[in-house]
Amino acid sequence: MAASDLERETTDVLRELVRFNTVNPPGNERPAIEFLAGYLKRAGFRTELLADDHDRPNLVADLTPDKATGDAGPTLCYLGHLDTVLADPSEWRHDPWSGDVVDGFLWGRGALDMKSQVAAEAVAAATLAKSGWRPHHGTLKLVFVSDEETGGHVGAQWLTKAHPDRTRCDMLINEGAGDVFEFGGMRRYGVCCAEKGIFRFKLTARGVAGHASLPRTGDNALLKLAPALQRIADAEPTFELTEAPAALLAGLGQDPGDPGSALERIAAVEPKLLTLVEPMLGVTLTPTMAHASDKINVIPSRAYLKVDCRVPPGLGEDAARRRINSVLGDQAGHLEIEFTEMTTGNASPIATPLMDAIDRWVRSNDDGAETVPVILPGFSDSRWFREEFPECVAYGFFPQRHMTLLETAPLVHSANERIDVRDLGFAASFYTDVARDLLG
Ligand SMILES: [Zn+2]
Repeated sequence: MAASDLERETTDVLRELVRFNTVNPPGNERPAIEFLAGYLKRAGFRTELLADDHDRPNLVADLTPDKATGDAGPTLCYLGHLDTVLADPSEWRHDPWSGDVVDGFLWGRGALDMKSQVAAEAVAAATLAKSGWRPHHGTLKLVFVSDEETGGHVGAQWLTKAHPDRTRCDMLINEGAGDVFEFGGMRRYGVCCAEKGIFRFKLTARGVAGHASLPRTGDNALLKLAPALQRIADAEPTFELTEAPAALLAGLGQDPGDPGSALERIAAVEPKLLTLVEPMLGVTLTPTMAHASDKINVIPSRAYLKVDCRVPPGLGEDAARRRINSVLGDQAGHLEIEFTEMTTGNASPIATPLMDAIDRWVRSNDDGAETVPVILPGFSDSRWFREEFPECVAYGFFPQRHMTLLETAPLVHSANERIDVRDLGFAASFYTDVARDLLG
């Protein structure tokens, strides 16, 4: 299929997907999932819906080797979620469920995160199947799930645990990166190899209650949080480089042994990139919630801060505690520290045949461009696959060259989400080519 046909077909499929309102909660992904199941089945895939919640099924579709000439080999899986976050139409220039194409952009909730990738994966796979192509060795698998945005309880988390035999794969391509960015005159495509961990905690100060009109009657717990907050505000970043962040710095032409100077140079070349790169390199502490007295005239005997703490992949509670103690200094001794959520980050190795295939494709489809490993500060469904199938290499990659990372990043989960339709064709050709490359 010509590039322009891939673009047109992917645009059509994405428009259909955007028109299914799959805001999670409640999700209600069944109609969208059934639409994709029908589309892939007609193209020649074996399809199956697997559901823990009837209204929120997951689709597994396989294209197996040609019986006469094919052999067993690796399973390459394209993964995507159909649910989206909410959208308030009054904040949008085009209705978030219209799928309108205006001035070369397709508008709608999910146009970036991630119905676009789902559409490109489905169209690429269906195009291959309809052309008569079958894997020479291995299997091409598509997994389209519900319920990513609120944790995958009936989506990927459930699916990988309840049906490991239907979801096991050796290589996985999911969301997380792939939009081009320019650095030092060179175009780079991020490949998401790892996800940071979450170690949220609560800092509590204790005091003695009293009447607010007589400040000396109590011991105000709220005031005891002030020095801690100030220390968090003043803290300089620290760095704990694991494999992927070190490779990212190297990929940007910087010395991973000196992250501080590397960040200074990145800031000098492209200040906006600093916002995205710096959190990939170390533990971050972001206070987001606070609570003290329930009444304005009562001196609080207890006050707390909630801090969203993110830890580089592979590091755990120790790293979080080290950072907390070094930031709070002597204040740590006056406050109670209680972790409320602990999830260790996850990662895949960066030197793999899948990375080589992505890199080959980028080099031959965007002259002079390169790939670099990146780290997601949050989570995606890749974590469930890495957890259930430790041998699976999972990357986030959805190539976009016409919209850059600095253009797409502010639109994800926000108003006026849209995608340049030329990138739909670009991405679909990637998913077509990489399947041929890896499965023969
Ligand atoms: Zn997403």
